[in-house]
Amino acid sequence: MTTSKEFSACVAQYDPDALPVEAAQEIVRQWAMPRASDARVERVSLHDALDRVLAEDVISPIDVPAFDNSAMDGYAFAGAALARGGDTVDLSVAGTALAGRPFTATPGAGECVRIMTGALMPPGCDTVVPQELVTRAGDTIRFANAKMRAGQNRRLSGEDLAKGKPALLAGRIVRASDLGLLASLGIGEVSVRKRLVVAFFSTGDELRSVGETLSPGSLYDSNRYTLFAMLRRLGVETVDLGIVRDDRASLEKALRHATESADVVISSGGVSVGDADFTRELMNSLGDVAFWKIAMRPGRPLAFGRLWSGERAGTGKAALFFGLPGNPVAVMATFYFIVREALLAMSGATRQPLTVIRAISAGPMKKRAGRTEFQRGIATREVDGRLRVVTTGPQGSGVLSSMSEANCFIVLEQARGDIDAGDEVEIVPFDGLI
Ligand code: AMP
Ligand code: MG
Repeated sequence: MTTSKEFSACVAQYDPDALPVEAAQEIVRQWAMPRASDARVERVSLHDALDRVLAEDVISPIDVPAFDNSAMDGYAFAGAALARGGDTVDLSVAGTALAGRPFTATPGAGECVRIMTGALMPPGCDTVVPQELVTRAGDTIRFANAKMRAGQNRRLSGEDLAKGKPALLAGRIVRASDLGLLASLGIGEVSVRKRLVVAFFSTGDELRSVGETLSPGSLYDSNRYTLFAMLRRLGVETVDLGIVRDDRASLEKALRHATESADVVISSGGVSVGDADFTRELMNSLGDVAFWKIAMRPGRPLAFGRLWSGERAGTGKAALFFGLPGNPVAVMATFYFIVREALLAMSGATRQPLTVIRAISAGPMKKRAGRTEFQRGIATREVDGRLRVVTTGPQGSGVLSSMSEANCFIVLEQARGDIDAGDEVEIVPFDGLI
């Protein structure tokens, strides 16, 4: 485990009052390594492996396909017949091979076997002429020699996955195609990493939980729901610690409890200028936490570091800590661009860079140089095939409906100024997390 000194040194290289997004991402990346000693692995059945992280390479126990078979409906024959034939090749049909019902005899020279896709290639046959190329009269077929080459339309044994070779690598997040692939290997169970445990809570005296009555000046806590949803989508185990009041004793209790019960602690609210002093003092006694003003909008204030459950920093159990801003859109943007990658890395997953696509801005956008801005956008494909993106309207960091309507973030790089209609911009599709 890296020491507190190393943590401070790592963070001190940057100006915490104007930390570029890339620098914040880099620091977080360095701190979010999966622990080498972390042997927390479990065996799960295929259905339960969906969206989990493979703990070890899966070596193929068989060849897939397990036998040479036909890629087409047609006629199988020995390719040597092509060399013997003239302009046309004439063969007589000796029998039929269906998927699961092989033709076991060896056809003679001048013979072929009617074959269906996936059927075992009959002995001595290495080529399949598709039925579309054939004219059949009774038990003989004829096709143009020039249309065929020996070896065509045959799937070779082991072509998809070869026995003894890695089929899926450790760190892979198991998706639909992988489940199918594992099944095709006859594998019913795999070793996956235990889920990362993430505790989260909201801070603010003004917050009420769904079900409570709103009093003047209070509002419902939505961050716990967006966080819950994004965390679930990432496949981590969630611990919802509710709403924490804006006082030192409540916050300290919540942080200690969270650190004891989770690998990562995420809070929202209480890190902006007014609150930061109050939380800063507490964080300093509980761990190594840096307060950053990230040069991004939304999401400027953010606290990041490590907390300890013991009496002093460096004692007891450690957990990585993200103190996100309170504004609902800022929570989602910082989660997407700062937290997401850390959680995936700590889960043991190989890097999953966000998909960045270029699109044409439909209208002008105000943008201040010196900070990265994440606007909410709706991207659609034009008739000419190009992607065009419009913003969702009011872009205030409290306007959650702007996230709901959007299907992507429009990422306006730090150095950039105002955008004109027709300019190229980068977009990041929401990718199932939001
Ligand atoms: P803060 O960062 O604590 O100053 O909060 C910034 C703004 O976000 C304030 O207007 C808060 O009321 C609002 N806010 C903070 N936490 C939440 C939450 N959990 N749900 C909805 N709004 C919140
Ligand atoms: Mg607050």
